[in-house]
Amino acid sequence: MIELRAVTRTYRSRGATVRALDGVDLTVEAGRNLALVGRSGAGKSTLLRVLLGLEAPDGGTVHVLGRPVAPGRADRLRWLRAAVGVVPQDAGSSLDPRWPVGRSVGEPLRLLGVAGDHPARVGEVLTAVGVDPSAAGRRPAAFSGGQRQRIALARALVHRPRLLVADELLSGADAVLRAHLLDVLTGSGTQLLVVTHDLAVAAALGGDAAVMAAGRVVEHGPVAQVLAAP
Ligand code: ADP
Ligand code: ADP
Repeated sequence: MIELRAVTRTYRSRGATVRALDGVDLTVEAGRNLALVGRSGAGKSTLLRVLLGLEAPDGGTVHVLGRPVAPGRADRLRWLRAAVGVVPQDAGSSLDPRWPVGRSVGEPLRLLGVAGDHPARVGEVLTAVGVDPSAAGRRPAAFSGGQRQRIALARALVHRPRLLVADELLSGADAVLRAHLLDVLTGSGTQLLVVTHDLAVAAALGGDAAVMAAGRVVEHGPVAQVLAAP
């Protein structure tokens, strides 16, 4: 379960104060997918950073999978890194250009000290996202943009996280790639929290949608209901 209570986050820049999060209350049941929508500047990325412990709120409480998220020493958030897979914005460019992609995909297993046959798991997850595992020795430049997006998704799923968080995962993906990645995501058995501008993506996730505006969650409910609202 994900729970945010009265979460605030204020930025000060050039004398002005911006309330990026202005009293966010949000509860997402375990296993239920959530599409987070709202205009640019509404606070979606800030909410994700707070959820991932990358940034501290000024006030309020954050729980993920029943545990409090308190930003601080990295080793204290180890459980969160193990439980959550992250697909950053512009995922295709997030792979280290110097590394064979198989190494990037396997990196979370190494960092988390997961036991087992890492190359086998990397091959399995590459196959699942539609990338030929025999190409794992190549660097990102050898792949198309769409292939790199698939590889970034493989890296986020390699350690079998319980929750996958993605910031605009499918922006820029063509219809075929989008349909395939949505199949991989919804078939992965992982709870999904996806920021998206694409209402078709929100609908395909098949869970709830939450609408953010001016730092608050202003609507939240089953996706069909929220998208039908005037
Ligand atoms: P969204 O992801 O919905 O586009 P953001 O969370 O990125 O929204 O931003 C919410 C608001 O907070 C915006 O007004 C943005 O300009 C501001 N903001 C976000 N991060 C910072 C920062 N590091 N410094 C100053 N202002 C920021
Ligand atoms: P940014 O706003 O700088 O793009 P994001 O909010 O998208 O950052 O967070 C993505 C980054 O967070 C990743 O690049 C990674 O360094 C870190 N991160 C957080 N949680 C995880 C996780 N479970 N596995 C791997 N990386 C994580």
